[in-house]
Amino acid sequence: MNSRKPFIAGNWKMYKTCSEAVETAGKLVKLLSQTSDVDIMIAPAYIALAQVHEAVKGSFVTLGAQNLFWEKEGAYTGEISPEMLVSAGCTYVIIGHSERRQYFGETNETVNKKIKAAINYNLKPVLCVGESEKEREANDTFNVLDKQIKMGLEGFLHDDMQNITLAYEPVWAIGTGKTASNKQAQEVHLFLRTLIEKLFGKNIAESIRILYGGSVKPENITELMTMPDVDGALVGGASLDADKFSRIVKFKTVG
Ligand code: PEP
Repeated sequence: MNSRKPFIAGNWKMYKTCSEAVETAGKLVKLLSQTSDVDIMIAPAYIALAQVHEAVKGSFVTLGAQNLFWEKEGAYTGEISPEMLVSAGCTYVIIGHSERRQYFGETNETVNKKIKAAINYNLKPVLCVGESEKEREANDTFNVLDKQIKMGLEGFLHDDMQNITLAYEPVWAIGTGKTASNKQAQEVHLFLRTLIEKLFGKNIAESIRILYGGSVKPENITELMTMPDVDGALVGGASLDADKFSRIVKFKTVG
């Protein structure tokens, strides 16, 4: 048994207007009012952050953003700084999601700058890594992950690592209905933890939480959470529905 507290995070992507986001957040607060044994985060679109923060204040549900820009401020039309996210009530920020890598030119270098910026403002980054279907078929999974981790976390110190969460999200399992088998997830999570141990030492490796992401649902979370190196989930589609997401959060009691 490890001592890592489970962490279930919801990525709402580009879904929900402000009023829809507030309504779902309000439902979650009610459904999860007794759930203190799991860390819970939801990441609505930027525009809804401040209002959702009001809706979840004082509850077990914390707030995250889906991205940031690394500069403090300036002429960067359309971008959002870490300080702005803090002012909107964010605790976490998702960095390097595969959709950002795929559609918005995010690279391991920009991911590294974003994580640095997040840490400077005491935001807790959730670093997403994962291989594409082609990379898995070419037996390149571990090489891809090795590079994403080494480049994404380059220059970080032991102390910085205490606030970082990793999310393993095989690209072929995101929004596709295909889930990595428990064995596939465990194999990669163990690889990531071993790599973190080589880079940052045993204490960090034992304490860092590694989430799995890719078509997680109430029906598959319980089994997934039995894997020794799976510490939680980053949930896309199923996090949009308050009932489904709260069943995932309550994986210990609801099957
Ligand atoms: C995600 O967007 O991070 C994700 C894992 O999506 P889904 O759960 O819909 O596969």
